[in-house]
Amino acid sequence: MFNCGSDIEYLDIITINEANLPKVSSPENTNSKYFRVCRACGAKIYFEDIEEYKATCPECDDPDLMNVPLEQDGVTYEVPHKANIPEVNLKLVEITTKKEITIPEKGGIIGKEGTIEPEYMQRFRFLSRKHLEVCYRNRQWFVKDLGSTNGTYLDQATKLKPFEEYQLHHNTVLRLADVKFQVIIE
Ligand SMILES: [Zn+2]
Repeated sequence: MFNCGSDIEYLDIITINEANLPKVSSPENTNSKYFRVCRACGAKIYFEDIEEYKATCPECDDPDLMNVPLEQDGVTYEVPHKANIPEVNLKLVEITTKKEITIPEKGGIIGKEGTIEPEYMQRFRFLSRKHLEVCYRNRQWFVKDLGSTNGTYLDQATKLKPFEEYQLHHNTVLRLADVKFQVIIE
């Protein structure tokens, strides 16, 4: 006779074992004694010293890794105050109207059907539906033209090649079709 119960029990054991597999960030760094255990994914992330900064968890990109206490051989260090980690914020100021657009840290897409203030973007006739991607990585901001019809320019001269990343710098002018934004990074 077929026994359902034992089958289910067997499957349960497999699942538990896989979930309990230890995760290690990268084997070549395991000589380092400093680590933080990521609260999001449980990975043990090693640090060279107390000062080393990682913007996100290398395993799962969780942005709160630095808020976990640093440990070393059973010693737990203070969590650094958030104020000690300088923020790098990006704001785009539309030059004709002075309208300020704050870009969220997770980045997003600018366009008439983008993720960043799409209702405001509707008014720009020559903007594509998904014109430009903005992303934040390693404390730097990058943009990528998403194959827009009328192009993206940096400081008037440089036309962005579609689907290639360019770094944004403070005080440059970012032009999407005929719409100009002043780049403010602070
Ligand atoms: Zn993680």
